[in-house]
Amino acid sequence: MAAQPRILIVEDDAHIRRLLRVAVERAGYAATEAATAREALSAADIDKPELVLLDLGLPDRDGLELIQLFRARTGATVIVVSAREETAEKVAALDLGADDYLTKPFDTEELLARVRTALRHRVAGETGQTTATTGDVEIDLERRRVRRAGEEVHLSPKEYDVLAELAKRPDRVIGHRQLLRTVWGPAHEDHVDYLRIVVRNLRQKLETDPARPRMITNEPGVGYRLTGVR
Ligand code: CA
Repeated sequence: MAAQPRILIVEDDAHIRRLLRVAVERAGYAATEAATAREALSAADIDKPELVLLDLGLPDRDGLELIQLFRARTGATVIVVSAREETAEKVAALDLGADDYLTKPFDTEELLARVRTALRHRVAGETGQTTATTGDVEIDLERRRVRRAGEEVHLSPKEYDVLAELAKRPDRVIGHRQLLRTVWGPAHEDHVDYLRIVVRNLRQKLETDPARPRMITNEPGVGYRLTGVR
């Protein structure tokens, strides 16, 4: 039998910590808890978790500082669990290498979906998948081609590049600044308007109902997500 993936829960609120633990254990993962940054770092060294659920508001240290430490010391995937009003923190967390975030109060099903996606991505990242399919759209990252219902879709280079960045990290939120930096270059990382236009065009070309996008979804103030990738 394969070992259960190990999840480290870093959260100073005992009630939320328990909710998280019950949810992940019921889904078959092994959970460890830490209530402070200090406990979290020593638990990470001992348990070598595959995934960390990280609250940013910790009593002894800013959770943002922990993201890079976890990634450097354990290679763990980090999902930030953060309050709704902390948009700037979510953006910073993604910039620092967090894999995704979840907003409190969270829904258990949504939490587990994020965990599954993040863990699956760890494996996919190692096998180097070159196509992504969502709905009737197929993105071929090797040939830089996109088909919808078998028909080739003509995309501008920027449209393709944005879609490819989303497809490389399917079902995870990619920050506005990261997309702008990668596709337009570091000088343009504040030009969210460029990105909005390109995303609008992509939705026109790829979505069944562009006014109610289900494929390229919006994370308000943070970024976009390519959903439903199989
Ligand atoms: Ca907290």
